[in-house]
Amino acid sequence: MSISNNRLSTEQYEQNFSDIHPPFETHSAALVEANRCLFCYDAPCTKSCPTGINVPKFIKQITTENIKGSAHTILSANIMGGGCSKVCPVEKLCEGACVFNLMEEEAIPIAKLQRYATEKAIANNWQLFERKQSTGKKVAIVGAGPAGLSCAHSLSREGVDVTIYEKECKGGGLMTYGIAAYKVTPEFCEAEVNYIISIGGINIKYQQELGKNISLIDLQENYDAVYLGFGVGIARQLDIKGEELVGVVDAISFIYDIRTKGYPSIPVGDKVAVIGMGMTAIDAATQAKRLGAKEVTLIYRRTQAEMPCTEEELNIAKLDGCEIIWLATPKEVIGINGNVSSLICTMIQLGEPDASGRRSPIETDQTISLSVDMVIKAAGQIPFEGLVNNNKINHSKGKVSIDEHCATNIKGVFAGGDCVNGGKEVVDAVQAGKDGAKAILDFLLFHAKPLRGQGAKN
Ligand SMILES: Cc1cc2nc3c(=O)[nH]c(=O)nc-3n(C[C@H](O)[C@H](O)[C@H](O)COP(=O)(O)OP(=O)(O)OC[C@H]3O[C@@H](n4cnc5c(N)ncnc54)[C@H](O)[C@@H]3O)c2cc1C
Repeated sequence: MSISNNRLSTEQYEQNFSDIHPPFETHSAALVEANRCLFCYDAPCTKSCPTGINVPKFIKQITTENIKGSAHTILSANIMGGGCSKVCPVEKLCEGACVFNLMEEEAIPIAKLQRYATEKAIANNWQLFERKQSTGKKVAIVGAGPAGLSCAHSLSREGVDVTIYEKECKGGGLMTYGIAAYKVTPEFCEAEVNYIISIGGINIKYQQELGKNISLIDLQENYDAVYLGFGVGIARQLDIKGEELVGVVDAISFIYDIRTKGYPSIPVGDKVAVIGMGMTAIDAATQAKRLGAKEVTLIYRRTQAEMPCTEEELNIAKLDGCEIIWLATPKEVIGINGNVSSLICTMIQLGEPDASGRRSPIETDQTISLSVDMVIKAAGQIPFEGLVNNNKINHSKGKVSIDEHCATNIKGVFAGGDCVNGGKEVVDAVQAGKDGAKAILDFLLFHAKPLRGQGAKN
């Protein structure tokens, strides 16, 4: 057993990481699917989209060859409608709500149609939105992820000048650095970010980190309002013996490397254990398998009935040949010469429902030992508690607290996305950015001199 890179040929890497949901090959194929839509008057698909995209309208526009209009309908509700068409768990959102499911027929492929229209808009750089004349107001945004970009675009449309401070050297947040490569490529993410900022009035300052190169007080001094969209980033530790051994990695760093360094350079074990059963765990497991790991086993402390990933995601892992051990939790990583050699897990029984409403895991005396050379931790992420504490921002276990107007306890400082909700989906972060922009516009309207030059009083 060993951890090594460069396990596959160039063609195998390309095949393994190619688009999991390929686009329509022809216009006619898109038309056939668009024409199946019943254009329901109550549009359950629209109601189930957190950004409220008018699905029947954009599909109707495709049927009438109005692709530009269709892209406008999508992007006016969700400026990351292109990316969302590739990464949204549509089986529990729009497509899951499609009435065809009730008739036991295939749901309309809404995501594929959405992709059809938005990819054309991005590829042809269709300018579908006009920026209003500059109002002279300036807003700083921390984080160029979906929440920050969506907030920036909505503000810019209203003539606000936006500066985004981003700690990485590319925008897109977890879209660019976190989501599985077979769902969305880094190249598409870059094109999407460029498309969003092509409206003008948005300046992204890269490699600028709040708490390191910039301070909240400086931003309050120099801008009329501030929006925090810095997400959640730190992987949760397992807090078990042997966690420091070579071969124990966290899923976020593992996926970050896959997305930034090129597939052949990423080391992966022969036998890999992945801890967790959320979207991140599935992405880590399937990508480890696609990098050439011989065996990948997902370990989850509850059962399929309680798992956080969707059934569709579980099926991707199963189809990739990943094994699953339900009702087990890691107890200790054993090593030989400092390298992982096995993982001991405690078996679990389910008890009464806990605060999450799911049956609680209770450890038994029974243990199992798995022979592995790599352990990937995907047991959730922890919010940036130190950052919010240092800036005296009210929070709940590190998640930024906001009121119904997206405002934090600090005057003129707003927040949204994963840093507030603790980690949901891209589409939720986009909506949070829109809500934040609306709240900031109201704030700018009612405060003639919002923040700048006031000595950043709280
Ligand atoms: C492994 C993984 C897979 C996922 N897969 C999916 C999926 O398939 N579909 C889906 O819909 N969602 C998925 N998600 C969730 C989704 O990516 C997030 O919900 C979404 O990106 C949140 O957007 P955000 O803007 O709030 O935060 P982020 O996307 O995290 O963006 C925050 C930005 O802030 C920057 N930043 C952080 N701290 C600072 C600082 N101090 N100063 C300056 N900048 C800072 C970060 O670099 C980042 O660019 C996944 C998440 C993970 C971790």
